[in-house]
Amino acid sequence: MLIVMDQGATPEQVGRVVAAVESRGFTARPIAGHRVAIGVLNNRGAVEPGPFLELPGVKEVIRVTKPYKQVGREFHPEDSVVLVGGVPVGNGHFTLIGGPCAVESEEQARIIARHVRASGAQIFRGGAYKPRTSPYAFQGLGEEGLRILARVREETGLPVVTEALDHDLFNVVEEYADLIQIGARNMQNFSLLRRAGQSRKPILLKRGMAATVEEWLMAAEYILEGGNDRVILCERGVRTFADHSRNTLDLSVVPAIRQETHLPVIVDPSHAAGRRHQVVPLARAAVAVGAHGVMVEVHHEPEQALSDGVQSLRPFEFEQLCRQARALTETLHSFAGEALCV
Ligand code: PEP
Ligand code: MN
Repeated sequence: MLIVMDQGATPEQVGRVVAAVESRGFTARPIAGHRVAIGVLNNRGAVEPGPFLELPGVKEVIRVTKPYKQVGREFHPEDSVVLVGGVPVGNGHFTLIGGPCAVESEEQARIIARHVRASGAQIFRGGAYKPRTSPYAFQGLGEEGLRILARVREETGLPVVTEALDHDLFNVVEEYADLIQIGARNMQNFSLLRRAGQSRKPILLKRGMAATVEEWLMAAEYILEGGNDRVILCERGVRTFADHSRNTLDLSVVPAIRQETHLPVIVDPSHAAGRRHQVVPLARAAVAVGAHGVMVEVHHEPEQALSDGVQSLRPFEFEQLCRQARALTETLHSFAGEALCV
């Protein structure tokens, strides 16, 4: 339930509503935005609105019908902007993220990061801990990979995103990363989600490869419920019968999810496609469908890459993608006043 206050409600009136909510054993969550509102959480079943409507300064009481509360637009109608090391993501900003699948060496990371920055991208990606299907495949450099990322950030000024593979590794990743990724295979790792909720760093929550919109948003709800409202969602392809690509990029989820949530949503065409030649067209489509950014794998020597070389763009291809994405974003902004243009 959401208790909406009058425009001129005083802090005392808000305080009285919060106290009334809490005296009934529920949690009161004041919500930022241009209207003053208080979310009621932790109620099992419907809450009787009458007593709250009696309180001074209360304008209306809205029943929240969705199972997700804090990530939903009913609670928070305006788009959120999440700051990643000073880079805004969401609500009118288009953010380009590029970098290798995995940090392989200091030299490799530096070379790629310089290309990524020269292309105009704002955030550098690179896995230090890799979730690999095979236990015999390259697992990442671990903490040394994180230290390399920190030095690359120092040189290039680009904030870095990297994955926390499990609850135990979260602390060390949190020390180094500007944006902490929770990968597709971990979308419903609830202890990891709860740990992310306690973090003061923003979280990139990838969609599980078989997750519905509701499951994805409920996973994000764990993080917000824990006290961290800096969540960016990332569509990265789902499992289907199609075998022309590694996964099927579900671009239809972008307008669907933007209708439901105020959180920014970006698209990773690399892990969806699994093939280099599909990545740029899919990234362009992601811009057109209203994504707030794209995250793309880039490698200067994809044939030598220790993971995901076949889907990594070469630097010149990434540079072209960045130029095209910027041009498309400008075109879309010129339609900004039109209905259904995001
Ligand atoms: C990644 O981005 O490095 C990754 C492993 O992606 P996903 O979790 O989407 O497979
Ligand atoms: Mn990869």
